[in-house]
Amino acid sequence: MKILVLNSGSATQKTSLYEIAAVPPADPPAPLWEGLIEWQGSCADIRTSGPAGVRLRDRVQISSRKQVSEQLLGDLWTGPTRLIPGPEAIDIVGHRIVHGGEEFSEPAVVTPALKGAVERMSVFAPLHNPSGLEGIEIIEQILSGVSQVAVFDTAFHRTLPEAASVYAGPFEWVARGIRRYGFHGINHQYCAERAARLLGRDLQSLKLVTCHLGNGCSLAAVREGRSVDTTMGFTPLEGLMMGTRSGSVDPGILTHLLREDHLSAEQLDDLLNKKSGLAGISGISNDMRQIVSAMKSGNPRAKLAFDIFIHRLTSLIGSMVAALGGVDALVFTAGIGENSAEVRAAACSNLEFLGVRLDPAKNSRPPRDGDISSSDSRVRILIVRANEDWAIARACWDLAQTKGHP
Ligand code: ADP
Repeated sequence: MKILVLNSGSATQKTSLYEIAAVPPADPPAPLWEGLIEWQGSCADIRTSGPAGVRLRDRVQISSRKQVSEQLLGDLWTGPTRLIPGPEAIDIVGHRIVHGGEEFSEPAVVTPALKGAVERMSVFAPLHNPSGLEGIEIIEQILSGVSQVAVFDTAFHRTLPEAASVYAGPFEWVARGIRRYGFHGINHQYCAERAARLLGRDLQSLKLVTCHLGNGCSLAAVREGRSVDTTMGFTPLEGLMMGTRSGSVDPGILTHLLREDHLSAEQLDDLLNKKSGLAGISGISNDMRQIVSAMKSGNPRAKLAFDIFIHRLTSLIGSMVAALGGVDALVFTAGIGENSAEVRAAACSNLEFLGVRLDPAKNSRPPRDGDISSSDSRVRILIVRANEDWAIARACWDLAQTKGHP
């Protein structure tokens, strides 16, 4: 079965093609073909890599998102990165959709009703849901009649108990959909399943804290394969400190700024989403590599940014462990989680009281996916490479098996 995966963001669109035979592989395979569009003002950079390592790079003027997507997909069946004879060879297209609201707790076949629901949820995810929907509509036009599946970033957290998902605001908020949804669910679920495989254990027997630390950062508490708590909430702004996002702050600060500075909703949004986090505190960058390098050269604001990041990370890992009532393994994933030995070392050192002990040599030269804890650690520490696209392809395959070819 040939499965095309579209991960449509506001600034990028990743596209990959996987082929899954009768039995999916236990370990994630590399995609057979990959494409990336980066939107840059009136231009777009298109990069594709096809069979035998052939790579193409092009910069085009944007007349419409569809035209650029058409050009990218054309490289799948024409030219040097050609992999398939034509668009009809694609069996299913899977999409990452950020917000599935309260309706979707599982991947679902795209129908007009589903599209309507995704559109309604755009009010909660105005930067993300419209691009996901646009991706679905572009595929409808380019590959007309192909089956499409939506895989939601919120769905994995639909198992949160009410005590974790309802805010302690007025009870009327619940009816208005103002509650904790949680995000990064596709990768948290993937990491939990992968951790069970790496540990050689049944997922049902495990208590895991998955730490997705990328540009956006969130944790999930996963017990028996189900999310029971997470750090992001109504929006992806809650919880940990992030590259440019504040994470949780006292809501009293917002009312103070509204009264004193007469800020508009857009200005507050901009402060909290773009001018805060590592970038806001350090004044240097949102990129952890640059924060660590400036900290090592003695920059005090970079050190403060790093210290806040670690303080919040360890205190929220503690909170996830409390929600689980113990922990068998910590899983580090995404750009910072996979690559920053400094962040892993600092966080794990604060958690030694839980019996968390890193192997320093493994931490500085980690395997792609694997265990970096010392042999006497009571809690396993794993690195799992984020792999949303493969998780989406698997979800499409699973749906096709259970419901027949969608
Ligand atoms: P996204 O959340 O957009 O998918 P990623 O998961 O790719 O982002 O994470 C991007 C972040 O990962 C960068 O902003 C940077 O802070 C961090 N990162 C990437 N490589 C390294 C590295 N070698 N050391 C420390 N941090 C890194």
